Amino acid sequence: MPLPNLQDMLRGLIETPSVSSVNPQWDQSNLGVVDHLSQWLGDLGFEIEVLPVPGHAGKFNLIANAGSGPEGLVLAGHTDTVPYDEARWKHDPFKLVEADDRLYGLGSCDMKAFFALAIEAVRDLPLGTLKRPLTILATADEESGMCGAQALAAMHRRLGRYAVIGEPTGLVPVRMHKGIAMEAIRLTGQAGHSSDPALGNNALEGMHKVIGELLAWRAELQSNHRNPLFKVEVPTLNLGHIHGGDNPNRICAQCELQIDLRPLPGMALEPLQNELRGRVVRTLEGSGLGIDVRPLFNSIPAMETPASSAIIKAAEKMTGFQAQAVAFATEGPYFKQMGLETLVLGPGDVDQAHQPDEFLALKRVQPCIEMLQSLIRRFCL
Ligand SMILES: [Zn+2]
Repeated sequence: MPLPNLQDMLRGLIETPSVSSVNPQWDQSNLGVVDHLSQWLGDLGFEIEVLPVPGHAGKFNLIANAGSGPEGLVLAGHTDTVPYDEARWKHDPFKLVEADDRLYGLGSCDMKAFFALAIEAVRDLPLGTLKRPLTILATADEESGMCGAQALAAMHRRLGRYAVIGEPTGLVPVRMHKGIAMEAIRLTGQAGHSSDPALGNNALEGMHKVIGELLAWRAELQSNHRNPLFKVEVPTLNLGHIHGGDNPNRICAQCELQIDLRPLPGMALEPLQNELRGRVVRTLEGSGLGIDVRPLFNSIPAMETPASSAIIKAAEKMTGFQAQAVAFATEGPYFKQMGLETLVLGPGDVDQAHQPDEFLALKRVQPCIEMLQSLIRRFCL
């Protein structure tokens, strides 16, 4: 079957819903998108593997490979989109609409459209001439916990030496982002009448001490860690949600605090999470309060690809921009576990990601295709 033109591939991807969400009411399979990509890349001569994500029914990763050897280039992206608020969209999220020099549709910016551009970039490539392999990698559930990328990392398979993730960076190269951990601290005390404090054990008062400790810890982290490449140069710790107690005249028996912790590259997540637990336990020593500290979702490590990496240098030369740090997380840390040196570079603007009437500016389409072709020439031919 002849490969559809770029417009038809874009339309096919946008019109195939692939919402992922931790809320089962929103969550959808990504198989429709994976099927399109398999068909198109298979027709071009790529070897196709569709891998079910263990423990996540209806979710699939796709590896499409051309050429062989260990040192190739991977063009990667996620097949899923975030949910959408239809009432706030002027356009139909599942129709590709071209207007105002823009392509509108859910996933046009973040980031299904990238796959159509990547396929367009390889359309006329004689695959037989590849000196190093070229892989197109499409993952499941990036927006809802990254189980697709985690499953790939757990396979311990080497897909290549370099990766480009087409997340929205406005075609500016990115080599760093912070990690994200969200943690819940739950304290359990004993309820009792407010008139006699001896009757209970106040979880709110315990949390007051915990908050004091967390703010002191934050100050320590921020004085010990700094990276001027980030707009917010220090690691952050946000107190985002608290709930405790029910009545002014009852001793508070339960209190929960939820925090968001964003470490810089070089700050590993697990030691931070252990430190958090250790500090809460030490602060409440002897209080008699029950303590439970646990992650609210799968944490994402920070990412850093060295400025000296060939893929970063090539992207800097090609774009004329120095590689930057961004405020959003990617699957890059999992790709790093797979031995890939990762560049984040994509045609969308992050300002439009996760927004109603998400769009991709038409003026970014051709430059993105040409950049991908230039990277393929540099790393595969
Ligand atoms: Zn994305």
